[in-house]
Amino acid sequence: MSIAHHATGPCSMVPDPGPPDGETTDPESGLCCPANAARLLRPDQRSEGGAFAAQGVCHSFACAILDGLDEQIAVLNEDGTIIAVNQAWRKFASENQPQAAQRLSSGDLGRNYLDVCRQAEAAGDAGAMLAWQGIDAVLQGRSTSFEHEYDCHSPLQQRWFSMRVTPLAYGWRGAVVAHTDVSKRRLAEASLRIAAIAFESPEGMMVTDAQGIILQVNHAFTLITGYGREEVVGKRPSLLSSGRHDAAFYQAMWGAVRSHGSWEGEIWNRRKNGEVYPERLAISTVLDDARRVTHYVASLSDITVSKAANDEILRLAFYDPLTRLPNRRLLLDRLRQALAACALNGHYGALMFIDLDDFKTLNDTLGHNVGDLLLQQVALRLQDCLRQGDTVARLGGDEFVVLIEGMSSHGADAVAQAELLSAKILAALNLPYLLGKHRSSSTPSIGVTLFHNGKPQKPDELLMQADIAMYQAKQAGRNGVRLFDQGMQDSLSARAGLEAELRQAVEQSQFAVFYQVQVDATGQARGAEALLRWCKPDGTMVSPASFIPLAEETGLILPLGRWVLRQACAQLRLWRTEPATRALVLAVNVSARQFRQPDFCQQVESAVQEQGIDPALLKLELTEGILLEDIENTIAVMKTLRLLGVRFSLDDFGTGYSSLQYLKRLPLDQLKIDQSFVRDLASDSNDQAIVATIIAMARSLGLEVIAEGVETEAQRGLLEQLGCLHYQGYLFSRPVPAPQFEAWVLARQLAAA
Ligand code: C2E
Ligand code: MG
Ligand code: MG
Repeated sequence: MSIAHHATGPCSMVPDPGPPDGETTDPESGLCCPANAARLLRPDQRSEGGAFAAQGVCHSFACAILDGLDEQIAVLNEDGTIIAVNQAWRKFASENQPQAAQRLSSGDLGRNYLDVCRQAEAAGDAGAMLAWQGIDAVLQGRSTSFEHEYDCHSPLQQRWFSMRVTPLAYGWRGAVVAHTDVSKRRLAEASLRIAAIAFESPEGMMVTDAQGIILQVNHAFTLITGYGREEVVGKRPSLLSSGRHDAAFYQAMWGAVRSHGSWEGEIWNRRKNGEVYPERLAISTVLDDARRVTHYVASLSDITVSKAANDEILRLAFYDPLTRLPNRRLLLDRLRQALAACALNGHYGALMFIDLDDFKTLNDTLGHNVGDLLLQQVALRLQDCLRQGDTVARLGGDEFVVLIEGMSSHGADAVAQAELLSAKILAALNLPYLLGKHRSSSTPSIGVTLFHNGKPQKPDELLMQADIAMYQAKQAGRNGVRLFDQGMQDSLSARAGLEAELRQAVEQSQFAVFYQVQVDATGQARGAEALLRWCKPDGTMVSPASFIPLAEETGLILPLGRWVLRQACAQLRLWRTEPATRALVLAVNVSARQFRQPDFCQQVESAVQEQGIDPALLKLELTEGILLEDIENTIAVMKTLRLLGVRFSLDDFGTGYSSLQYLKRLPLDQLKIDQSFVRDLASDSNDQAIVATIIAMARSLGLEVIAEGVETEAQRGLLEQLGCLHYQGYLFSRPVPAPQFEAWVLARQLAAA
């Protein structure tokens, strides 16, 4: 409807036709009035000749009244021609159409308002026709009034007007058109509507007066709290109090509202049914123009679900789901705090690493469910051993960690405290367990380390120390406690360094095979033992005794062992070409891990075949440990290789636990008397008795016997007397590279010839 007013108001420009006949403009008020006021007078007034007097009244009163009004007013004669407009009409025109200002002396006077409506309608103003009909009805006397509201927006401002059309009084034909700016009211109504919709949001809303008396609540409030509107209006919000917060909490909350105008946070409230629930609450103040509080508006949402989800996320992130103990992440966090605190307070703290012995076996035999039950019970027992404030965490698997703070500030006392507590834990975990229907037992290995004065600095380091101590406890036979000391760490660091070096050595083939001769009673070479050497880049030669155990543990023995086997076969092939070495038997050491490889037999077979050597010249040295580990499998592998023609010697014999029963079943060719019996043979009658027994046993089993570590002629002589006719030792030669070995053999043969 903007056009109706716009077009008909002073802002609608029509060419200034000049004042119509007899019209004058009041120079003071600017109100345009017809000079011939008779047109505005009743016929009876005209006939009485009071026209001029009436004209004077019009001018002085009517014009002053009209100009004093805020409404924009135009007076139409009976055919709709504008015959007068007031000051407000003209002002509107000047503000909205400044280019028209200079023509305001006449405004729209003389224009036909009905024509303007028609033109506006033709120009697309949908409301213009309505205005035309309404005005026409009033002018024609069909209606006593017409009212209509329309918008007149500009890009910068939203405006609404109301148009009221009333007939001229006293029987004069014509009408008064009054436009009133109703924008304020319309905007206020709109904001009320918006507020009403916003108020009915999914969030609970509550409005109180400045004294905190509830004035209004919305539907969501009722859904959340269970209280209907009528039950809370007139009451105070404290009817929702859960009792979980103290007075200080509410004081702080209202303090924030007073000083900042708002507060937001989480709060426990109570529903009508008594249930206490977590709620997110935001309180805002409403101020009047004088900045006095008139209302408080609270929005509240039930966060029971999101709080539960949040708690669940926290639980998953920081707690072990099986035992509900803190997990590694939380433990590390607490460790960081503990280390920082002990740097300040001078007290010792302790960290215990607890690993269950043989947990895997229990898990494999009784199943994971039973294993889980054990872990849960261990967790409970650990918690029972500790004070509140100590932490017990599960790192995963069967590994638990206990963190103790605030111990004595004297080292010796702190050690005693740690020992006492670890003994208590050890005893508690040693008690029998009832796991479902299974009665079971379990033991732990516990490593303990202390921290003090912020040392060690890093949680990882501390954890590693406790882990090392635990490892030592395991090595020492399990079900025990070990206190960490620096020596432990040094040896482990050295071990880690050696492992890295060894790995590189394997990659770079820094190895050689040396050969140590084995002689018979005549002193002639019968064979040799292949002994591995690590030739470091700096020229040092490392004995296998210092790296074979590590190579075994790390698996590096597999590529190494395979390489030695190939080297040995290649050497036998070379020896085959020389009469002096052609009949030599070469002994190769085989480690447990190597022997247990599923394809070990194939490895040996292909090494033999590749070189085309006589398998009977290859002798594999096994230790008692290998043989006893899985006796049936050992026998099977040995028999397979035996069929190939390969021979076997039992190395370091006498140091293990072989029983005659087992020995009988093994397809062996030779027993090798361990050098520890040979060393003191001359002086130790006990060793003599052992060696004599071994020799007798070998004979009864039809096995050859050889003594290693023979260093003196006295030892050799005694061995010979006892019936041992094969020897290996420094008395004859140290292990040497192949060319030296060959030279030795040749020299011996020549000397004998
Ligand atoms: P082993 O098989 O019992 O080898 C005999 C060890 O005694 C060798 O030490 C040898 O040098 C040493 N020996 C020989 N005669 C004498 C003597 O008269 N007096 C003294 N005191 N010692 C003597 P080595 O070469 O240091 O080897 C140590 C161990 O390393 C070997 O003991 C063997 O178990 C292992 N080993 C050596 N080479 C290999 C290999 O290629 N594979 C595997 N798996 N183990 C190997
Ligand atoms: Mg050996
Ligand atoms: Mg040996």
